[in-house]
Amino acid sequence: MSNPPDVRHPLSWQPEEWAAYAQSIGEPTFRGAQIFRWLHHQGVTEPAQMTNLKLSLREGLSALGVGDPLRVVECRRAADGTRKILCELSSGDRIECVVIPMTRDTEMVDPDPEDVDDEPAVATRQRVTLCISTQVGCAMGCVFCASGKSGLRRGLKAHEIIAQVLTAKRHLEPNEWLRNIVFMGMGEPLHHYDETALAIRLIMNPEGIAIGPRRITVSTVGLVPGIKKLAHDFQGKLGLAISLHAPNDEIRSKIVPMNERYSIDDILAALRAYPLPKRRRITIEYTLIQGVNDSPEHAQQLARLLRGLRVKVNLIPMNSIIDSTLTASSVERVDRFAQVLSDARVSCSQRKRRGDDVAAACGQLALAPASSLVRAPQPLRGL
Ligand code: SAH
Repeated sequence: MSNPPDVRHPLSWQPEEWAAYAQSIGEPTFRGAQIFRWLHHQGVTEPAQMTNLKLSLREGLSALGVGDPLRVVECRRAADGTRKILCELSSGDRIECVVIPMTRDTEMVDPDPEDVDDEPAVATRQRVTLCISTQVGCAMGCVFCASGKSGLRRGLKAHEIIAQVLTAKRHLEPNEWLRNIVFMGMGEPLHHYDETALAIRLIMNPEGIAIGPRRITVSTVGLVPGIKKLAHDFQGKLGLAISLHAPNDEIRSKIVPMNERYSIDDILAALRAYPLPKRRRITIEYTLIQGVNDSPEHAQQLARLLRGLRVKVNLIPMNSIIDSTLTASSVERVDRFAQVLSDARVSCSQRKRRGDDVAAACGQLALAPASSLVRAPQPLRGL
C-alpha cells in the first residue's frame, strides 16, 4: 500500500486512485468509477471491451497497462465438482486457485446468522468457495505441504491475487455464486502482508467484487506480527484460520519450522487479542498425520490448550504428497481424535477432501520445478 499508484499495476488501484487518474487526463471523476466497475464488478480487464468508454480513453488504458495479468493454462475438474485452475502470470510463473462448490458438510466458513444472503430464497443457488494463492511457492517449509517443497519463488502482487478472483468468476457455472474467499492456496498470505491487505480491500469494495470481510478467511501458519496487523487494519472482521497442527511446541517445531520463531504461546496470545465480532470463532486447522500428532493424548492436550478461546477446530486428514513418508491418519484415529475434542466440548469438524483426484486438495498445490528459488526449506530432523 506504500507504493505510489503509478508503479502499481492498475488492477490494484483503489477507486480514489482511478478518480485521480480520470482527473489527471481531464475527465470527470465518475469516469474513474466506471473503469473500476468494469474491472472489478464486471470482471472485464480488456479495455477494448469497455464499451461505454470512448476510444481515446480505452487506448489510454491499454497504454497504462490495463489488461489481464494472467492466462489460464488448464482447468481440471474433479469428480466432486472442484475445479483447479492453473494460471500463468505475465512473469511466466504459474499459480493455482481452486473453485470449490459448497455443500452443508463442506462449509469452510461459519454461516452468518446476520447475513440476509443466507435466506432460503437465495439458498437454491450453488454457493462456491474460492481458494486463492498469495505466493509462487512458499518459504514456510511445513513438512507435510507440497507448496513449500521447492521453497519460495516470489510473493504475488495485489493485482495478481485479484486476477485469480476475476478469472475464477469467469469459470463459474450459471447457477453458481461466489460466496467465500479463502486465502488457503499456495503461499503464506501474511508473509507479504501489504499486498495481501491491498487485495483484501479491493475484494471487499462494494463497487467491485463486493465480498464482505466475514466471507473472507485468511489462513496463516502463525506469523504473529501479521495477525496483529490484520486485527488492527480490519478490526477483527476478517475470518482467521491458524494452521496449528500440533498440541505442543515439540511436535509443532518438527512439522512447522516457523514455530521456532513464533511459538504456540505467542500465537495464542495474538488470538486472545484478536477483536472477534460476536458469534464468530477463529478456525484452528489441524492436519492429522498418522503417528505424529493424532493420538487421543494429543487431542486432550489440544483441548486444554484451547480452553477459553473462541475457536473451532477443523480436522484435515493429511492429503498425500509426493516425496513424503508422512501419511494420513486412519479413519478410526481421526474419529477418535474428534471424539476426544467433542467430549472436552471443543467444537470441531472434519474437513472433507475436495478435489484430491486433481491434486487440488489442501497442501497439494505445488510449484512446477523451479530454477530460481529464493530459499529452499530447511530439512528437518526427527521425522
Ligand atoms: N500458509 C497458509 C495457507 C496455505 S495452506 C497456512 O499455513 O495456513 C492451507 C491449509 O492446508 C493449511 O492449514 C495447511 O497447513 C494445510 N495443509 C498443507 N498441506 C496439507 C496436506 N498435505 N494435507 C492436509 N492439509 C494440508
